[in-house]
Amino acid sequence: MHFYVTLTTRCNLKCRYCYGKSLEDMESEFGNFEIDYSQPSTINYDLEVLTSFLAKCPELPTVIFYGGEPLLEIEKMIEIMDKINAGKFMIQTNGVLLDRLPPAYANRLHTILVSIDGDPTLTNFNRGKGIYQKVIENLRLLLKRGFKGEIIARMTVTEETEIEKQVLWLLFNDDFRFKSVHWQLDALFGKRDFEKRPFAQWTEKIYNPQVQSLVKFWVEYMETHSEVLRIYPFLGIIHSLLHNESSLLRCGAGWKMFNIQTDGTITPCPVMAGMKDFYLGHINHTSPSQIRKVLVKEPCVRCDLCNLCGGRCLYANITKLWGKEGFRLVCKTVKNLIERLKEAEPRIRELIRAGIISLKDFEYPRYNSCEIIP
Ligand code: SF4
Ligand code: SF4
Repeated sequence: MHFYVTLTTRCNLKCRYCYGKSLEDMESEFGNFEIDYSQPSTINYDLEVLTSFLAKCPELPTVIFYGGEPLLEIEKMIEIMDKINAGKFMIQTNGVLLDRLPPAYANRLHTILVSIDGDPTLTNFNRGKGIYQKVIENLRLLLKRGFKGEIIARMTVTEETEIEKQVLWLLFNDDFRFKSVHWQLDALFGKRDFEKRPFAQWTEKIYNPQVQSLVKFWVEYMETHSEVLRIYPFLGIIHSLLHNESSLLRCGAGWKMFNIQTDGTITPCPVMAGMKDFYLGHINHTSPSQIRKVLVKEPCVRCDLCNLCGGRCLYANITKLWGKEGFRLVCKTVKNLIERLKEAEPRIRELIRAGIISLKDFEYPRYNSCEIIP
């Protein structure tokens, strides 16, 4: 099983899409859901309780450190890594404090997902002056100190993003080349932003066509370089097409992956922390195999794409903060992504048959905090 361990609700940055939205939505009602705003800012449970909870997992758990910014709680993270017998440790971080993590612990991480939105101009516009440079400096240091795991650039994509240009920047710029890239649309998270944003025009005129062009580039690169670039949304869907497999919610939230919030309560994912209707137990008295599962409902269960999309996001499926129209617009991006990859599938199969690339090139670790469907 996979568990996010939320180390803190605090953050050291004030990114536009996250901090800005939280201010806007502070006063707005949150549908019919009761939200508990009283979670402690840092872990208030005994780590022995966490240890014995995770020890009851049927197989060694994967632990993903999460926040807020988890590296604000380095001491706690180290304590957990010392105490817990996990199959893998991962972290999702803004990267600013990575230089403070002792190499003995950094090098034990299987995966580091670092928030970066593309080139310096875009990243610093969203995340703050000098953040891009600081993050890259820290990643270089990490590699110099012997980190051998996977570093995934995790982009938040907004109407400011030219997706093709920014993904290619992350993969090929001379400063620091990321080997893995994932992105998530800044969509359906806040209640008040939809009407103010040009989301519909942007998806139609910029995002969807550029995803198409990026898929084309991805396949051409396989042909010319015998290499499958690790662009996670593409990897996940093509893997399913090649293996003729269907998927439940691809991030795993609510059925394969859960979050332990700072007071020890279990929720489907960190974004659903505080949503009392979705409290699934507590590490004090619930064992991992007893956690109630939560699956996506309408409209996903009746959608033709559900076997490949998986429902995109449990939080969005439940809250529908942008109403029907907003939800439908996001689904159109999913449809575009899947259709473009289906069109590419025959050529990819040919390349595999010709031995230019192999099926193995499309393998990726599941539930590693890449949601696959942006
Ligand atoms: S495309 Fe939309 S409706 Fe269909 S499964 Fe995905 S999120 Fe649900
Ligand atoms: S995709 Fe949605 S449900 Fe899944 S982890 Fe992200 S916010 Fe949670």
